Amino acid sequence: MLRRETKLVQFGRTEAPGPANPPVVRASTILHDTVASYEATKARRETDDAVLSYGRRGTTTAHQLARSICELEEGEACFLFPSGVAAIAGVLSALLRPGDHLLVVDTIFPATRIYCEKYLKRNDISIDYFPWDATDLSNWVKPETKLVFVESPASQTYEVMDLPRLCESAHALGLHVVADNTYGSGWLYQPLKLGCDVSIIAGTKYLSGHADVMMGCATVKGEMIMPIRSHVHMTGQILAPDEAYSCLRGMRTLGLRLERHGENSQTIAHWLSERPEVVEVLHPSMEGMRGYEIWKRDASGSNGLLSVVFQSEFDTEAFMDQLNLFSIGSSWGGFESLAMPIQPKEGRELTTSDNVGPMIRFHIGLEHVDDLIEDMADTFSNMHHLKA
Ligand SMILES: *Cc1c(COP(=O)(O)O)cnc(C)c1O
Repeated sequence: MLRRETKLVQFGRTEAPGPANPPVVRASTILHDTVASYEATKARRETDDAVLSYGRRGTTTAHQLARSICELEEGEACFLFPSGVAAIAGVLSALLRPGDHLLVVDTIFPATRIYCEKYLKRNDISIDYFPWDATDLSNWVKPETKLVFVESPASQTYEVMDLPRLCESAHALGLHVVADNTYGSGWLYQPLKLGCDVSIIAGTKYLSGHADVMMGCATVKGEMIMPIRSHVHMTGQILAPDEAYSCLRGMRTLGLRLERHGENSQTIAHWLSERPEVVEVLHPSMEGMRGYEIWKRDASGSNGLLSVVFQSEFDTEAFMDQLNLFSIGSSWGGFESLAMPIQPKEGRELTTSDNVGPMIRFHIGLEHVDDLIEDMADTFSNMHHLKA
């Protein structure tokens, strides 16, 4: 068995002599010489997702990417979408019908919540939100409950869920579990191995890794494959060949990049936690974080994200404006450092962090960590200087 670093290098390798990366294959129509060949292809594609039959079913570029992600996530099938939100919306629409009830963790990514509130409810699907530390769903389940949607660590606040116990409870109640695995991106964390049935990654983030691709994917095992495959084909979900190419190219360095993002963000998390301006640093590797023991048990490291609660009088906007090496921007998972204001409690029903104060979400990039710390240190001292 090859180790996963080696697999990242080999994904999509064609027969020699050939290019190291599978080339961009652009096509709508696929040409055949005979009717027999045309019809045989159409028959094969119903059970094999890697058959070249028509552009809407993906070309070899997307097929190679899907197979690579499927191996990374250790699933049985992988479907590609034009964005992370499209993958979330596609999976939820594929698995829910009017009258069904959905359970969603309260600490979910805000756009997922918007889809649930604005789209699913309009289609007569009812939703309840449960706390991130729930391990027994029997208090939340109703006769019409069909599905559980989780995200671990939590969006923006990084509470780590006990997925093995939660999945056991869900399965005992006859429910399937879908996880948003964008944080771990198949490298730090593998929800399918922890018991989930579907793992969604916004490849816009670390899979592609260079802040220039939009993509999403859903890796699936078992009974969930057929309904998701059928929905993907019915609704024409597709990832364009150039985006598939760029994503697979980015994945070559997924392990290396995450190692550095994780080291840099841990160093900065500890450094920030000593600053007098800071009330609390949220990062899954910080001892005392909610779910820290579970993270140590279930994950192999952390990514570049961290959120910081500052003292209430601290001017976070001026701080972000004055940083030189951190641009202001949403999204994350590229090579560059970012900062943005967040209000994670807005919209949530249950979350419990006691600390109030203005918050910044940082994405720590691949710059030298000492440069990033110097930039922050200079900005803190300039601000005190201005105040005095
Ligand atoms: C970014 C993100 C998404 C959505 O991905 P897009 O490609 O921006 O649509 C979904 N879930 C999480 C956790 C994300 O961070």
